[in-house]
Amino acid sequence: MIALYRKSRNARKRSFNNISREEDEVDESDEDESYEESYAEIDDDEETCFDEPTPENSSNDIIFDFVEFLHHGKPKRKLLIFTSPERTHCYEFEYHRTATKYRCLQCLAQEQDTVINAKIHFNGSKTYDFNINEHVCEPIVYLPENYQTSLIIKSPNFKFEKRFERGKIRPYLFIFNSRDRNMCYKFGFDCSNRVFRCLDCRIHNISIHARYIQHNEENAIEFNRLNHLCQPKRYTP
Ligand SMILES: [Zn+2]
Ligand SMILES: [Zn+2]
Repeated sequence: MIALYRKSRNARKRSFNNISREEDEVDESDEDESYEESYAEIDDDEETCFDEPTPENSSNDIIFDFVEFLHHGKPKRKLLIFTSPERTHCYEFEYHRTATKYRCLQCLAQEQDTVINAKIHFNGSKTYDFNINEHVCEPIVYLPENYQTSLIIKSPNFKFEKRFERGKIRPYLFIFNSRDRNMCYKFGFDCSNRVFRCLDCRIHNISIHARYIQHNEENAIEFNRLNHLCQPKRYTP
């Protein structure tokens, strides 16, 4: 199964051969779907366990959100950086191929590349480096109606646990249903790609993945999308 996984990853790499990519970058773009099948078996040999991640961004003063919006009917994601706590204005960043590089769209329109880099850590957590070049663009007026829901979930709607399952201690992330906290989605850790994934959605061939981030100085979870195809299950401690 390991060989199968590598094979499909290599095939995929060839299809992106014009784009230089770091080996350890996880592609979270919409093309993601094409290699979903290769996750059907996760490489168990690399199994690691760890404590609950506590990622730290380069700065705590940045007010940001990670939102979904519809582009020709397809959901896409933007990173919004607000210019004040009142959230009246923001800069819009869109990721470029990987989830580790975000570009300011309005700067790009003026042919300047203003980039926020993110880093993915061994435990799947993600930190943002907000030290960037000065924008050549002006912030835009923030209109919440232009976006769908935030892709960031805050405490106490998630819980990290180490559980002994299938012969090993493994890290799990439980996301509670906002209407009924007895119900949850169970995310297992995918070591090959260093990300938590909804285990039941994998069966439906869609990938809902989650990463620990620091948001408003607290631990929070960032998702690639929110709508599960699976049904939440009763949480059993
Ligand atoms: Zn800009
Ligand atoms: Zn699910």
